[in-house]
Amino acid sequence: MNAQQLSVRLMKVAAHVQADAVVADIGSDHAYLPCHLLHNGGAVRAVAGEIVKGPYESAKKQVQAEGLEDKITVRLAPGLEAIEPSDGITTVTIAGMGGSLIASILEDGKDRLKGVERLILQPNVHAQAIRLWAVENGWQTVAEEILKEKDKIYEILVLEPTEEKVELDAKQLLFGPELLKQRTEVFKEKWQREAAQWKAIAERLENTTQTEDIRTKKEQLLEKIALMEEVFADENS
Ligand code: SAM
Repeated sequence: MNAQQLSVRLMKVAAHVQADAVVADIGSDHAYLPCHLLHNGGAVRAVAGEIVKGPYESAKKQVQAEGLEDKITVRLAPGLEAIEPSDGITTVTIAGMGGSLIASILEDGKDRLKGVERLILQPNVHAQAIRLWAVENGWQTVAEEILKEKDKIYEILVLEPTEEKVELDAKQLLFGPELLKQRTEVFKEKWQREAAQWKAIAERLENTTQTEDIRTKKEQLLEKIALMEEVFADENS
């Protein structure tokens, strides 16, 4: 992968960025995404934020090598602290991390989201944590995608602010309101894989000393398995 040839996963993230966007890419190891956007007319300016020195240095080098220093500012900072009010950021991208980490980055930095019109988030796991955060913080889902690359399955969530109260039921939170409507083959594969893991864990928990913790964990897994069975039963009806 490089700034010209992004992974399929990052190409799909890039496709949700609007042409006149000012982008903050948080966790911007190598700054491939912002460089690609700037080269291809996918954004007008960008900030690349990184918390770790090594990837921050790689991002700086990449931006220099691409001759984009006047368009992309690279900052060493945790999460949304990479954004300054004068940047005029309209779109935030956060890709390649767990959903819980992405949700905590959004929660910790929510004052920096004033003026942001779109969040494009690509959690590797646990997208539910982001959906919960979105519901509690006035962001609605405008698009969702699911894709498979090199045998890994990824979700992309596109959120925009809303004044209206957003409500998602348990199924929509877990599976994604748009992904549930699409029910693609990759979606089915993801949840079949997950269900197989849940069932194996639930079985192991069944054969362990039944503490309160174990019982709660088992109940949560059984609830998720039941939700999944409901979703796929709808499918067959
Ligand atoms: N976004 C790129 C992608 O999708 O290919 C890089 C993903 S890489 C797996 C995750 C990057 O996020 C790492 O470089 C890591 O240092 C950075 N990161 C993790 N937590 C962060 C945080 N709180 N703030 C900024 N960067 C963070």
